[in-house]
Amino acid sequence: MPDPGPATGSSVQHSQRLQRRRRATQLAFFALFLLAPALNLLRFDLNETQLWFLGQRWSLGLGALQRGEVSANQAAITLILRGILPGLALVAIFLGVAWRWGRLYCGWLCPHFSLVEGLNALLHKACGKFSLWDEQASLRPGETAQRRWWPVYALSCAGFGFFWAITLLTYLLPPQAIWGGLLQGTLTINQSRFILIAGSAFTLELLFARHLFCRFGCAVGLFQSLAWMANPRALVVAFKRERASDCRTCSTERAPEGSACDRVCPMRLRPRQIKRLMFSCVQCGRCVDQCAESQQAQPQLEWTVGVDALRETLRQSKKEQQPHRPLK
Ligand code: SF4
Ligand code: SF4
Repeated sequence: MPDPGPATGSSVQHSQRLQRRRRATQLAFFALFLLAPALNLLRFDLNETQLWFLGQRWSLGLGALQRGEVSANQAAITLILRGILPGLALVAIFLGVAWRWGRLYCGWLCPHFSLVEGLNALLHKACGKFSLWDEQASLRPGETAQRRWWPVYALSCAGFGFFWAITLLTYLLPPQAIWGGLLQGTLTINQSRFILIAGSAFTLELLFARHLFCRFGCAVGLFQSLAWMANPRALVVAFKRERASDCRTCSTERAPEGSACDRVCPMRLRPRQIKRLMFSCVQCGRCVDQCAESQQAQPQLEWTVGVDALRETLRQSKKEQQPHRPLK
């Protein structure tokens, strides 16, 4: 979990260490997402109408009620203990983490966001942009966009789009039947149709709208953002506005021409803006990492939490309330 970290010369190493940790958690969760159905860690089998959780059949006791093996009262207690309470606890923990630390799930675990970052890097090799909708390319001096990366980008979007669709189907039907059916060409019409339609939709989303989906289309992200916005003490990337002029000297290996934080943000945000405009920040820390590299001992961007975050929020809202003064 990110912590504000030291504001000294060790900021660079601290940020780099944090990025390595983030990559490791993303990779581990990506593997878990792919393997969870095959290991019965989490899936809902539509054939058996059965939830599998951590290798066990998770029953709400309704079958026993239908067979007359338990009374209505016993069935209601089982439903509360095995269904409603665990569900509420999971939601409360998830939103509690978001309330305190923001969209950590998105930036540190979510398999979709891992793809967003990977595909950004491929697109950048092809045309110098991280999104097809960026207005300008951002290439380092001497670096050129190489057309040969276009097919790699397009095929990666299609490959992951269809892989995603197949994986989702294994969350609903026995994984052995789906993977076996694919290899032997014995999938049913409906299974093939699902893979074709969902795979095409995911491919288009990854090609053209992966950031838009993360920012506006994903309910998991949206509820984390709402919880985070409700807490003025939550972890936030704060910008030292009193030293804003230091940004003129900004230069890093990735962005020698300046504005390094803007250029690397995988959500295509501008990290020096106020919290309200950073609604979809996923706490990936890449802006903080770049600022530490650029400004070394005195970075302009830092994570703040608790009282410091509250102070930053109050300063921002005061600034917002000030009447706009025209430049002389
Ligand atoms: S603003 Fe910074 S921490 Fe937030 S998503 Fe962008 S790069 Fe990551
Ligand atoms: S990375 Fe830091 S120094 Fe560079 S523009 Fe952003 S805030 Fe300013």
